[in-house]
Amino acid sequence: MCHTERMRRLTLGDFELSVFSDGTYPLDGGAFFGVVPKVMWSNKVAADARNCCTAGLNSLLIRTGKQTVLVETGMGNKLSDRMVKFYGQPAKLLDNLAAGGVAPEDIDVVINSHLHFDHCGWNTMRARNGKIVPTFPRAKYYAPEGEWQYARKPSERDAISYISENYDPLVESGRMTLLKGGEEILPGITVETFRGHTASMQAILVQGRGPEEPMLGDRGPGRAARSPSAQPVHDIRPSGAQPHTACYISDLIPTTAHIDLAWGMSFDLYPLDTIASKKRYYARAIPQKWLTVFTHDPQTRWAYVERDESGKMIAKGVE
Ligand SMILES: [Zn+2]
Repeated sequence: MCHTERMRRLTLGDFELSVFSDGTYPLDGGAFFGVVPKVMWSNKVAADARNCCTAGLNSLLIRTGKQTVLVETGMGNKLSDRMVKFYGQPAKLLDNLAAGGVAPEDIDVVINSHLHFDHCGWNTMRARNGKIVPTFPRAKYYAPEGEWQYARKPSERDAISYISENYDPLVESGRMTLLKGGEEILPGITVETFRGHTASMQAILVQGRGPEEPMLGDRGPGRAARSPSAQPVHDIRPSGAQPHTACYISDLIPTTAHIDLAWGMSFDLYPLDTIASKKRYYARAIPQKWLTVFTHDPQTRWAYVERDESGKMIAKGVE
């Protein structure tokens, strides 16, 4: 992903969206595509000699005009030596944010869809004195309560995915608010539970407001007062589409290769619920033309999911 690619921004009503990556990591193709045979998934995604595919670590940055929100914080830099052997430790998020003019102090709100290590890794970092501190010193953090409860006593199957230092110090210090699902974090930014990958994973819905729509609350200054943008800003709203919604659907649909209902990851704890949740998502996302943000796609950060003439799901690019 080149520098300018990384910095491209889009507007969604009166919000400005951009994706920042924590880098890429190798993920076993069998684990990535579950029961889908390799002869099928290898048509879409390349695997190396160890059968590993490349997975991305995409965080969504939302500028509301008043506040700056970061959805997901990648893998971070606190992996154990054993985990580094499997996954490496790219740890590029802070550098990529800095290249886009975003400092850790600029982030007002951090939202985690769930608490697997590759989604909340930069929530915290180790200070020089060894203490775990929030990476984003001014931010209020949010995560699903069910995830946090589960993470305290995970099953043997996925215990390796939970690293207490990423969230427990934040909960203990009162910096992290635990969510039931359905809450509005800020005007236009809500969370919704989609069961399947885990029991309590939450998608983050972002609904910007177009200039023709009434202001229901104080959203602060308009787009003109936003951060200076060196890159051209494209308005992505498809003509006539209402409302202007983007959704960070997280590990329910981790990449564009996973948009088919049956193409789930073998990491999913409840694979049949993954299918039901995808149906529930598409029932709104397709007719209402939501922009889907893909958490682990190394190439396509966001796209519109559509059905072609044969009923097959396809990802239609924005750019
Ligand atoms: Zn996960």
